[in-house]
Amino acid sequence: MQIRTVGVVGAGVMGTGLAQNLAETGHEVVLLDVSEAVLDQAKEEIRKSLRFQAFFRKKAEGAPATSQSAETVLGRIRWTTDPAALSEVDFLIENATENWEIKRAIYERIDPICPERAVFAANTSAIPITKIGGVTRRAPRVLGMHFMNPVPLKPAVEVIRGYHTSDETLDTARALLKQMGKEAIVVNDSPGFVSNRVLMLTVNEAVFLVHEGVATAEQIDHLFKSCFGHKMGPLETADLIGLDTILYSLEVLYEELEDSKFRACPLLKKMVHAGLHGRKNGKGFYDYGATA
Ligand code: NAD
Repeated sequence: MQIRTVGVVGAGVMGTGLAQNLAETGHEVVLLDVSEAVLDQAKEEIRKSLRFQAFFRKKAEGAPATSQSAETVLGRIRWTTDPAALSEVDFLIENATENWEIKRAIYERIDPICPERAVFAANTSAIPITKIGGVTRRAPRVLGMHFMNPVPLKPAVEVIRGYHTSDETLDTARALLKQMGKEAIVVNDSPGFVSNRVLMLTVNEAVFLVHEGVATAEQIDHLFKSCFGHKMGPLETADLIGLDTILYSLEVLYEELEDSKFRACPLLKKMVHAGLHGRKNGKGFYDYGATA
């Protein structure tokens, strides 16, 4: 199946990166969010990111300057708050807030709007794909595509096969990822899949260590980078993902697996309630100055 038009639901951190990556690789994108202000911000973010990339390409020895202008890339994106705009998409990637009620309402709304043939990919951090497939009438064409942040720079995607996901759907997803220059790592369904079953526990435990005064965020991250060779420590990673998204993901894991080991640290809750969401709004475990 030829994938030309891709619907992207949610224009936050992930939706913005995805829309950019898809448009840069020649796809027509329909980017949907609930607010015009979020869409305007997404456009600005993409413009900034393309400028940044062009600058680094120019600096890289022998590398050509960016071959596509920002206007060409942005021109492939249709910005909308109207779900009816998804009526012609070949493939849809949903990146709305990590909250089951929000996601369920979205799938129920868009299922009758999108073409029957279209594949739905949920870019969720922890919500089971089988549960998402169950609220649509296309469970064989629903799968998980857990992209990493920042999307344009990450070479691989955790792809999740739900209970009903067909082989054909997985092939279609692999083909789209190939067009985007990414590798698919296919795993079976579980809340949090592989990556976030491990990562969310690690991040939460690191927050507990700060909460208990055992070490500072800087010391914890320094240990992981210097001793284990990680590129980023767990608390830098948490700030990059978004502390609100980390908290929502832990809440999903706690509820779905009914296991107390996923109980979110009170300090994480307090920071989210205080509006400290990490890089995306300027402050988390670290200070990023002005709002990004
Ligand atoms: P975000 O808070 O930055 O963005 C979420 C967006 O969804 C917001 O712009 C919000 O307005 C929009 N939204 C809410 N309800 C909507 C609706 N009914 N219709 C359309 N848009 C709606 O969050 P994010 O970090 O981009 O995460 C999005 C999803 O991707 C979550 O499920 C998250 O768990 C997952 N995810 C996040 C990361 C990460 O590193 N941040 C990585 C992989 C997956």
